[in-house]
Amino acid sequence: MAGIYIHIPFCKAKCRYCDFTSYPSKLGFADAYMACVLQEMRLRAPALQGKTFSSVYFGGGTPSVIDAKWIVGCMNRIRECMALDEKAEVTIELNPGTVDADKIAAYKHAGVNRFSIGLQAAQDAHLSELGRVHTAADYLRTCELIGDANKSADLMIGLKGQTCEEVRGSIDFALRGGVSHISMYALTPEDGTPIYSDYLNGDLPDGDEVARMYDCGCAHLQKRGFLRYEVSNFAKPGFESVHNRNYWRRGEYIGFGVAASSFFFGRRFANTRDLDDYMKCILSGFFPVVDDAEIGQEDARFERVMLALRTAEGLNLFDYKREFGTDFASDFFEPLKKHADRLEMKGGRIRIKPAYLFVQNSIIADFLQ
Ligand code: SF4
Repeated sequence: MAGIYIHIPFCKAKCRYCDFTSYPSKLGFADAYMACVLQEMRLRAPALQGKTFSSVYFGGGTPSVIDAKWIVGCMNRIRECMALDEKAEVTIELNPGTVDADKIAAYKHAGVNRFSIGLQAAQDAHLSELGRVHTAADYLRTCELIGDANKSADLMIGLKGQTCEEVRGSIDFALRGGVSHISMYALTPEDGTPIYSDYLNGDLPDGDEVARMYDCGCAHLQKRGFLRYEVSNFAKPGFESVHNRNYWRRGEYIGFGVAASSFFFGRRFANTRDLDDYMKCILSGFFPVVDDAEIGQEDARFERVMLALRTAEGLNLFDYKREFGTDFASDFFEPLKKHADRLEMKGGRIRIKPAYLFVQNSIIADFLQ
């Protein structure tokens, strides 16, 4: 399995919590930028021969703010110079209110078969507090335009003044749009974002409150038939994201566009986060890579453990031994002893008990020492 990621860094406005590579004021560069992305695919393609890709993911930014012809163009270029599985999952991220019927039809015609919609919350007061450019009602209209196709919604917890009741309300509202997958992330107040001052002022819920919201959300999703397959991801059976699962299974992926990262050829590498530098490099025929590291055996071991412990399926101990030639139990004796009551071993797999998944970072940190 291998995935393709395409970064489209344009947005209508900058959300107050956002520290992603996104440019709300540079939509005018979209055509020139996307031409560079197509060119980057052509430059990379010779090295990717022999690989079949099982997923494509258009992320951002807000991929739906640019002309749909570029999504069509990317899919054409992928099919022209790479091997794409005919049953590949093709996802596009979009924000409510940024699409119309023609755009959706163009996406579907190009092969997009999964729509990931950034709802975040069902309460307009929260949306406006976050600096989102849409209302909750826009979400339902967008879902209607998409129709029966596979849909996912993003939700956030840990918002200023948010209650468990609202978290449950947001989940039920998201379900009204007919989604089969929900990603529920805790708001992370990143330094340098406007929302960071809310955090410094003590206006955001503390860790215990966020954990309570997470538990409320998990329980509610479970009641609605959604299974948690990763810390923040829930799906009806059979609707897990192929693309994201590949990340957690440490599968290969190639990223195109500014700030896109890749794991391929045993290396992790990332493109520059600077839009001008990215375009200049591509136009000069160079890869815009700024970080590039070969992943040795020890790093691979830690990555394998860290990624697997985020998931409900956990780590396959047999596969671990086959890959690294050693026993997981002896390699990680100390953290295993320390977290014995938070871990469970079943059917040749080890995983974090569901009740402790939300604090997985602190558990995993001990495995990375
Ligand atoms: S829509 Fe997403 S990428 Fe764009 S500013 Fe908001 S959070 Fe950032």
